[in-house]
Amino acid sequence: MQNDAAAAAAAEGWLGGARGLRNWMVLTFGTGLGTGVVIDGELFMGGSGLGPEAGHFIITDRPYRCGCGNSGCAEAVLSGTALRRRIVENRAEWKRRGRAVPADPEQLVLRARAGDVVAKRIFAEFSEMLARAIHNYAVVFSPQKIFFSGGLKGESDLFLPRTTALVANLLKGRPEIEPKLEVSSLGREASVLSGAWVACSGTLKKSE
Ligand SMILES: [Zn+2]
Repeated sequence: MQNDAAAAAAAEGWLGGARGLRNWMVLTFGTGLGTGVVIDGELFMGGSGLGPEAGHFIITDRPYRCGCGNSGCAEAVLSGTALRRRIVENRAEWKRRGRAVPADPEQLVLRARAGDVVAKRIFAEFSEMLARAIHNYAVVFSPQKIFFSGGLKGESDLFLPRTTALVANLLKGRPEIEPKLEVSSLGREASVLSGAWVACSGTLKKSE
């Protein structure tokens, strides 16, 4: 997971939307929330050398359990696994409304796009939690851009506009650190290639 996010961050710098930037971040949505961080052109690996576990920033006091043993982590709300859990939690609500319960996040996406109130509410909450996480990342890492990668790339219409507006509001007192939010234009191959490069060279910078 962390290696995937680090590789994705490296790929953005070489081939993607981070070319020419000094500071950026990639969030990969999957079974968890991967976070790749580049500071001053270098992959940030933290003191442990294992990379930032920024998916475990605690962003809510709602009792959403995280795989790490805590509750309320970003990852507990902002991942495919979390969306599956939200579907289960809202079963009764759909049944009460006489609607079928979506079988998986893909169906949840279709329902939200079709105007289903419960599905739209789940994505509204997703956007709110994502904005909180991004606020926290902005005040710590100050990325110029944050890229979204992984499972929800094609679904950004359901969260990106609202998240962008909420982030702007949360950072209204510090607009100089407001990151631009972008969906990654890169496919998985780019990350795999970059991951191999990082693994071989141990660095993000090309040795000339
Ligand atoms: Zn956690």
